[in-house]
Amino acid sequence: MPAEPATAKAEPAPAKAETGPGSGRFAPSPSGDLHLGNLRTGLLAWLFARSTGRGFLLRVEDLDRVKKGAAQRQLEDLAAIGLDWDPPVVWQSQRLPLYETALERLTTAGLTYECFCTRKEIQQAVTAPHGPMGAYPGTCRNLTEAQRRQRRAEGRPAALRLRAEVTEFTVTDLLLGEYRGAVDDLVLRRGDGTPAYNLAVVVDDAEQGIDQVVRGDDLLPSTPRQAYLATLLGLRVPEYAHVPLVLNPAGQRLAKRDGAVTLRDRIELGETPAQVLCALAASLGYSDAKTPSDLLKRFRPDTLPREPWRLDPNGLLQPSACP
Ligand code: GLU
Repeated sequence: MPAEPATAKAEPAPAKAETGPGSGRFAPSPSGDLHLGNLRTGLLAWLFARSTGRGFLLRVEDLDRVKKGAAQRQLEDLAAIGLDWDPPVVWQSQRLPLYETALERLTTAGLTYECFCTRKEIQQAVTAPHGPMGAYPGTCRNLTEAQRRQRRAEGRPAALRLRAEVTEFTVTDLLLGEYRGAVDDLVLRRGDGTPAYNLAVVVDDAEQGIDQVVRGDDLLPSTPRQAYLATLLGLRVPEYAHVPLVLNPAGQRLAKRDGAVTLRDRIELGETPAQVLCALAASLGYSDAKTPSDLLKRFRPDTLPREPWRLDPNGLLQPSACP
């Protein structure tokens, strides 16, 4: 991980004893049932962790987009395809003080500011010429105290943003190599008081001793921001592996509307969880795996397909290769 200049730093977090390998993790958002793409990413996260002697943790990212009962169903589905994890399962909604402590440390170091912009104002500003794609243009970065008071008095809810001192940061990915991407003044706490995903994920990964993050490659663009934030907080940057997504026949990211995409949908079609596992394994280049442990013996990250898995959820999943 190349060190990059960061002049201000929050006081480092009290270091956890770093003994032996840490853990990998899977951190689904409980917005509904996991689809085959999510299950495949969960399987990969398990394989990367277990094949390197790491623990494997599950974290329910329930700060946002929560559907009642979904987290429980997600855990049941992961168990049904044969994955196991080290207790306890962690729920972000029960860890709010941890995120607040990190925010206080950043604020004390002068690394945050209040942002009163509405979504619409930001959209209008970022479509201005020369604005980096999707990056916050810094509208509220240099407000005077009087301007901030005025906006508060107007009753505008303030989000808290990072006062980033770099515009890019480089991370290393086990599958993709070096990736340099944008860092902007990302939101750390939303206007409604909810800690933002990018903050929570960084705080949690470090606090849980997670030193390996395996997840879908749709999250790659967030990774430089997260690694930079970890660095500011004096936290260890985990190793990353961003894995290809599953696509529907039209080449779009697999979604619920594509048909029988969840484990429960597949069971209704007459497939067993073992067959689904076997099909996921086949999509990774391993035929006849009956359990994740079968797969673990043969797992080689360097031979993983680097292309998305194209899946027609209206057909049967690889019936010939599977039990
Ligand atoms: N909760 C996020 C999601 O389900 C994943 C976060 C992560 O793996 O860092 O998309």
